[in-house]
Amino acid sequence: MTLEDDAREYHRRAPPGKVEISTTKPTNTQRDLSLAYSPGVAAPCRDIDADPEQAYEYTAKGNLVGVVSNGSAVLGLGDIGAQASKPVMEGKGVLFKRFADIDVFDVELDLEDPDAFTEAVAAMEPTFGGVNLEDIKAPECFAIESELSEQMDVPVFHDDQHGTAIISGAALRNAVDIAGKELSELEVTFAGAGAAATATARFYVSLGIPRENITMCDINGVLSEARAEAGDLNEFTEPFARGVDDGELEDAIEDADVFVGLSVGGIVSQEMVRSMADDPIIFAMANPDPEISYEDAKSAREDTVIMATGRSDYPNQVNNVLGFPFIFRGALDVRATEINEEMKVAAADALADLARQDVPDAVVKAYGDEPLQFGPDYLIPKPLDQRVLYEVTPAVAEAAMDSGAARKEIDLGEYREELEA
Ligand code: NAP
Ligand code: MG
Repeated sequence: MTLEDDAREYHRRAPPGKVEISTTKPTNTQRDLSLAYSPGVAAPCRDIDADPEQAYEYTAKGNLVGVVSNGSAVLGLGDIGAQASKPVMEGKGVLFKRFADIDVFDVELDLEDPDAFTEAVAAMEPTFGGVNLEDIKAPECFAIESELSEQMDVPVFHDDQHGTAIISGAALRNAVDIAGKELSELEVTFAGAGAAATATARFYVSLGIPRENITMCDINGVLSEARAEAGDLNEFTEPFARGVDDGELEDAIEDADVFVGLSVGGIVSQEMVRSMADDPIIFAMANPDPEISYEDAKSAREDTVIMATGRSDYPNQVNNVLGFPFIFRGALDVRATEINEEMKVAAADALADLARQDVPDAVVKAYGDEPLQFGPDYLIPKPLDQRVLYEVTPAVAEAAMDSGAARKEIDLGEYREELEA
């Protein structure tokens, strides 16, 4: 059977889909039912009416994330609309549950208009402890996320933007050390100036890369000041307009220390890799085909090429599942009002640190006994490594408390023990 046939069978097998609701309290007796619903349910309702925070004590809100999409930019499929995106959103829910025991309602909204979409999501605040925006196209996704973050008191996180930023940021921290370079001195060239690329560039600035060292290219070439003046850029790409001559990616990649690809497959040649600075770092993250293949990048030159892609069949897979489950877990457990920059940096740092520790045998086995040791081919932990939960989650919770985003203080030592239990 092909993967596609297998996937159809997997989804169709009764009951159709990948998720169901189950109850968490006894429902055997008449009394149980009158506690669960009328008339008993009135008591918690009155308490929440008096103090809305009580919703976290009496309902599932605190462990429930809304995965919300309009299906306008689904990975590899494009604008397939709300209904057709439902398998993806259910799948995201599966990952939340599998990796961090977070429950998800997937919400597919048949709304193209960003204002209508924003209004609908904001109105769902009573239901959710957090909102994961998913697969919404640029540039609408930027305004939707910033508007919702402003309006809502629960965390709002557009994973397609920040997930990639955080995971690749962790890889970058380690790659830079291995290459013997300094974040503050890196010249970084981006291919792509969309949702993932602009969020990643902003995050790299948070990590310490000077904004003026970043050159971004879209399909028309370098984002230059001349293009900004000509009105060719939007409010999200304009901050990255650089005072350089107009040019192509080919020009911008010359002498760069780092190439970050969040564009389309196959646009980087071996010649371009040879034009980069010593020991170049190449994160070619277009899916399913990277900007340049692992083999082509590695074999382009004699010195060490440090390479990451979005693919699971090569080393250093930049996989968002290393981030969102644990970032939301930490945010929910301290009832954070947002997922702020401090929390994102804490997640990236925790991932980077974890990659420097010895890898347990069970993890090595799960990945076919390939040696996993900190170095050019092991920059970030593997998704099936349980320790990611124990390391990243408390780091995010701590950053939430330190930055004033947490509504609940927790004891981090005890929290760690609970997570490991
Ligand atoms: P997007 O918002 O559509 O952005 C795509 C960007 O690529 C646009 O700025 C586009 O330029 C640019 N582009 C297209 N062809 C180009 C070319 N030949 N040279 C230079 N730039 C070019 O998409 P996105 O959500 O940011 O995703 C972009 C890519 O990153 C996809 O391949 C996606 O699969 C990948 N990605 C990977 C990960 C991961 O590995 N973890 C996560 C997220 C995204 P214009 O604006 O001029 O059209
Ligand atoms: Mg996505």
